[in-house]
Amino acid sequence: DVKKETLGFQTEAKQLLHLMIHSLYSNREIFLRELISNASDAIDKLRFAALSDDSLLEGQGDYRIRVDVDQEAGTLTISDNGVGMSREEAVEHLGTIAKSGTAAFLENLTGDQQKDSQLIGQFGVGFYSAFIVADRVEVHTRRAGEPADAGVLWESHGESEFSVEPRARAERGTSITLYLKPDCTEYADDFRVRSVIKKYSDHISVPVEMLKPATPAAEGEEEEQPAAPEYEAVNEATALWTRPRNEVSDDEYKAFYSHVSHDFDEPLTWSHNKVEGKLEYTSLLYLPKRAPFDMWNRDMARGLKLYVQRTFIMDEAEQFLPLYLRFVKGVVDSNDLPLNVSREILQQEGSVESMRGALTKRVLDMLAKLAKKGGEDYAAFWKEFGQVLKEGPAEDFANKEKIAKLLRFASTHTDKPEQDQSLEDYVSRMAEGQEKIYYVVAENFNTAKNSPHLEVFRKKGIEVLLLSDRVDDWLMNHLGEFDGKPLQDVARGALDLASESEEEKAAQEQLQKDSEGLVERLAKVLEAQVSEVRATARLTDSAACLVVGDHDMGAQMRRILEAAGQ
Ligand code: ADP
Ligand code: MG
Repeated sequence: DVKKETLGFQTEAKQLLHLMIHSLYSNREIFLRELISNASDAIDKLRFAALSDDSLLEGQGDYRIRVDVDQEAGTLTISDNGVGMSREEAVEHLGTIAKSGTAAFLENLTGDQQKDSQLIGQFGVGFYSAFIVADRVEVHTRRAGEPADAGVLWESHGESEFSVEPRARAERGTSITLYLKPDCTEYADDFRVRSVIKKYSDHISVPVEMLKPATPAAEGEEEEQPAAPEYEAVNEATALWTRPRNEVSDDEYKAFYSHVSHDFDEPLTWSHNKVEGKLEYTSLLYLPKRAPFDMWNRDMARGLKLYVQRTFIMDEAEQFLPLYLRFVKGVVDSNDLPLNVSREILQQEGSVESMRGALTKRVLDMLAKLAKKGGEDYAAFWKEFGQVLKEGPAEDFANKEKIAKLLRFASTHTDKPEQDQSLEDYVSRMAEGQEKIYYVVAENFNTAKNSPHLEVFRKKGIEVLLLSDRVDDWLMNHLGEFDGKPLQDVARGALDLASESEEEKAAQEQLQKDSEGLVERLAKVLEAQVSEVRATARLTDSAACLVVGDHDMGAQMRRILEAAGQ
């Protein structure tokens, strides 16, 4: 039987710890939010497990988080009666980082304190934030349903190692004691700690309690035996999404966002809705300001936090939103689903399908509203998530039109690389008689902008969208048209530019005749390389260009397949 054991932090954990301590110092009060958030998660997990096995509650079903301060000792202790941890779990969860994208995140760090603190925030601060204010942390924990002597004491000075040893614990759950650094003793002050809890943890649905201030015995009253210490809730302790919209402040919405998203930044915007009728549910959906590191990683954590009648069921419920909206964070609380719902059941439930449809519309509406508002916000959204949204028309045919309105492109109208022109903008500028929306696809913006295919369009003053993202070819193929106007790749097939006058047509015919001989000779020479040679009016300065047949694969698509070894 193992007594005390000293173990090293995983390399990534060590790096993160070190960075956290040095980069987040000016924002150090958030450690309390993180530890209370973990306590609340632990209680949610137990509440859920107890649905199928109520012996786990050990006869004590009043959930609470307690925060105790000891000014003399310079300590702060956060205790919860949640699910607790076994020895193995403590070693695993508090000694390693299991998150996907960790390596990529660490590579992105620059050493610039300001930038790095942003990045760490996006990555998720978590348990290690305790070491911003403490030079020693003790975690005393026991898993719910285990005997008292299964308790463990985890301890670390936040450098390279930690220790674990058996330590009996009568109560289930976890107590985390921070031995505060000399310049952080404000967090042993009752008043200061209360105000930080109010600020960050008001929305936590379990009570966060602190000792009631002692009331001095009134005069003439007999000195009584000191009573058992009494605790009182410091936070509001109702689930934020259950409250009416007009009673929740922006600051509360923002604080709740950091709880559900682990994001350090504020959200870009949110949408809070209660739906009644055939289906009853409440949703609170947020758009983040920044893309997570692992947005292009197949196992990126995505989905909503699912509750059924206020009871937490699971994180990352993926069934409620399509993949192209995977950046959305938030909560959905259903009144219709059974409490014992599993991921498998979610996939078959008809009501989930309806909710998914409605929530998708909500997000698209939220985006449309943001776009309509104008200004920086939509541009910021597009820069971070535009490429993901471009997956939409292929995945979600039913909402193709709505998504199309949200797309932004670079265009010859501005000739700038910023993707800030909508298809509606383009259509509003179309000349009389122009029937198609023209675009060119290239490897990068500059190549697109300087494409010889554009010469005739520039000459005639016809706008062309300049596309250079990997998904663009694919996107345009799925989109097909917008507002009844076909989308036309200028590098494909023959061009029949509308505004051609009789004169131009005659000139074109003449050109065809004059070139017959040359075309024939070229076709012979290039037989193995091209399928056809045509005389064209589409070039004004260049002598020749390559075009792709109407039904051939786009040049960009071909490159993607080539890269994939096809
Ligand atoms: P996250 O909360 O994003 O998972 P943290 O760094 O905050 O990351 O916590 C790491 C893990 O440690 C948690 O996922 C959980 O398994 C465990 N943990 C932390 N605090 C507690 C607690 N109070 N009770 C039980 N487990 C906890
Ligand atoms: Mg956490």
